[in-house]
Amino acid sequence: MGKDHKVIVIGIDGLEYNFVKEWRLRNIMQKKYCMLDLSDYDVITTPPIWGSMLTGEIDQEIMDKWVKRCEVLGDEGKVKQKWWAKFGSTILPKSVSLWMWKNIFRNRLGGNLFETTSNYIMEKNVHNLFELFQNPWTNGVPGYNWREDFPKQNVMQQEASEGDNARYIRYIENSYHNSKKQLLAALESKTFDLVFWYEKILDSICHASRIKPINLMRYYLEINELIGIVKEKHPNSVIYIVSDHGMERKKGGYWWHSNHAFFSSSNGESIEKPLQLYNLIKKTKTLGKNGDKVSQINK
Ligand SMILES: [Zn+2]
Repeated sequence: MGKDHKVIVIGIDGLEYNFVKEWRLRNIMQKKYCMLDLSDYDVITTPPIWGSMLTGEIDQEIMDKWVKRCEVLGDEGKVKQKWWAKFGSTILPKSVSLWMWKNIFRNRLGGNLFETTSNYIMEKNVHNLFELFQNPWTNGVPGYNWREDFPKQNVMQQEASEGDNARYIRYIENSYHNSKKQLLAALESKTFDLVFWYEKILDSICHASRIKPINLMRYYLEINELIGIVKEKHPNSVIYIVSDHGMERKKGGYWWHSNHAFFSSSNGESIEKPLQLYNLIKKTKTLGKNGDKVSQINK
């Protein structure tokens, strides 16, 4: 075994703490696992939370855009829907409110925010985790360099909301298999000192369907198994597993983001909030470096 002081981050969008615990998914739990507090985030939504993990802080300008969106579209996190929007959505037919959102409000409020805030760290040139490493790798993290076919997804999401989600689910599963291959290839290469893998199958499957927890379990088992493979191949790497929020099943079988996230570590470290991941990794990296120096002196 050569030197293998990689830091590996397994970022799973929508990974729910309660399911990991209930189904006893040991590989995901690692040496230490905990629930992350999201009360610092005005809106519990994907790009600003991942962005905060990479930069160590919440970008209030980006968050404010999400707050304005929620004031029109509906309550979420700490944000309350404006009275006129709430009133409108109760008296107008769904198709009319959807038309009004797409044609009147959405463009004024910054377009499709998943798309327009997907690269904000790069666009604003904010210092981030990847700059601490010589040779980092990622397949694309929301807020930093997230690449998606947003128009194609919009069409499939629309289909799914009308009751036909077969095409969307196939697309989600295929995307997962591709990103899994990318992860394994990146880990195979010895050149990377940080591997930050992002995967959103658990979030997408829940948003695309009213799947029951018992049927959702196989996706969790698949990820648990994949992490087992990663751990076996990289016993000397530090592995952090993190989510931006979990998923909670509401009345009628619909899923929405839960108000907490998940974290686990292979080295017994822990954090309390997603944005602390930045400092934790910074610290881990420094320790790793010193460790190298010590072992060289000992020779
Ligand atoms: Zn998310």
